[in-house]
Amino acid sequence: MGFGEVPNNIIVGNLRSAAYLDVMVDRLVEIMSHSRHCAILTGAGMSAESGVPTFRGADGLWQKFKAEELANMDAFMANPKLVWEWYNWRRDLMSKVEPNPGHLALAEMENLFERFTLITQNIDGLHHEAGSREILELHGNIHRNKCSKCNRILSGDIEIDPDRIPACETCGGRIRPDVVWFGEMLDNDILSGAFRASEEADIFFSIGTSAVVHPAASLPMMAKQSGATLVEINPDRTPLTDLADFYFEARSGEFLPELISAYKERLESREA
Ligand SMILES: [Zn+2]
Repeated sequence: MGFGEVPNNIIVGNLRSAAYLDVMVDRLVEIMSHSRHCAILTGAGMSAESGVPTFRGADGLWQKFKAEELANMDAFMANPKLVWEWYNWRRDLMSKVEPNPGHLALAEMENLFERFTLITQNIDGLHHEAGSREILELHGNIHRNKCSKCNRILSGDIEIDPDRIPACETCGGRIRPDVVWFGEMLDNDILSGAFRASEEADIFFSIGTSAVVHPAASLPMMAKQSGATLVEINPDRTPLTDLADFYFEARSGEFLPELISAYKERLESREA
């Protein structure tokens, strides 16, 4: 098509690259329209755009603790009350944030493909809240509880009183938040689902993740090696950037809604 001069990475919003942006988006939309299975990996950048607070830089009571000291099984066994107080504080902070336009765009994108797998490293549940359905939460979900002994997941939002931590109805184990703690393995079913989706995807988007923490970081590489088109959207370059077929130096909340509307426009003009 004679697009040989167009770079495959671009700073969205930069005037010098504005001329290329439309061509790149056109090209990407063309590939999307021929893709049956789309897989997505999202990371901390997406949460940060919603203003999800990190536990670093916490003030007040929790200032003197490091996450590593509280988010682990030994700490929970030694002082479950303290760990639950910390998680209740974090839940409370997270309940105040909302999905951003990037989350909403991904929920919409789920309807545009025959198969769609959303893999996330985030524990804030914002993809659920935005309406996404097929979600593999690699690190769990801070709003969910499970048994610390048999791993049974409890349904519904259950508020925990740190002074009266409930016991599992099945085995009597203490109830804990359903997040992956330091020193713990990722859930095997979720992880193998993520690997399978990455292998089978025709197109793979890596969004707002620094692409350095394994095993999540190996998912985009696996997709690329299996022949998928690899798209990266991130305000900062990462170790993945040079491997990506498309790199958009942008925040997901700015870029994804534009991409979806370009895609829908194309579908409509085709149907017309
Ligand atoms: Zn149990």
